[in-house]
Amino acid sequence: MILDMLPILSGSLQQIDFEFSFRPSEDSLLATVYADVDFAEPIIVTGYVKNMAGYMVLSADVRVSYSTLCARCIEPVSNVLEISFEKDIASSEDVSSENDDYIIIEDKKLDLLPSVEEEIMLEMPSRTLCKEDCLGLCHKCGKNLNEGDCDCDKKEVDPRLAILKTLLQ
Ligand SMILES: [Zn+2]
Ligand SMILES: [Zn+2]
Repeated sequence: MILDMLPILSGSLQQIDFEFSFRPSEDSLLATVYADVDFAEPIIVTGYVKNMAGYMVLSADVRVSYSTLCARCIEPVSNVLEISFEKDIASSEDVSSENDDYIIIEDKKLDLLPSVEEEIMLEMPSRTLCKEDCLGLCHKCGKNLNEGDCDCDKKEVDPRLAILKTLLQ
């Protein structure tokens, strides 16, 4: 989504509202880093850019629906991540493009996607659980312990203790 910033830069508008949705492209950093995450539904972005007398600001709300596998029991799990963020905007004539504090406008145009993807990467949990107290899988037989206990002896889970036990025999 590329916003034409000319109306704000020329002073004819104080604020531009936007709304768009997108699916992370396969070669995007987002899709690469979260390769085990399925962004099946479009990511929805709403917000505005505003002239704040002397500087400009971007404000956006992002809604990410995704599905992945529970980090403990590997059952499928769907989640919704809602992010709100604000960032200052500057034109490339005023600020170096390496300055991370600003979103840089090139040729009076603002590409919203890189900033949105960056915020999602910051906020995405590194692992998703099907529920807070997911019991996970038995280390021995692989049974999903949320569905009930198994007959394995859980006392031998710690491998250091297992080695000690063989030494004592
Ligand atoms: Zn789970
Ligand atoms: Zn078991």
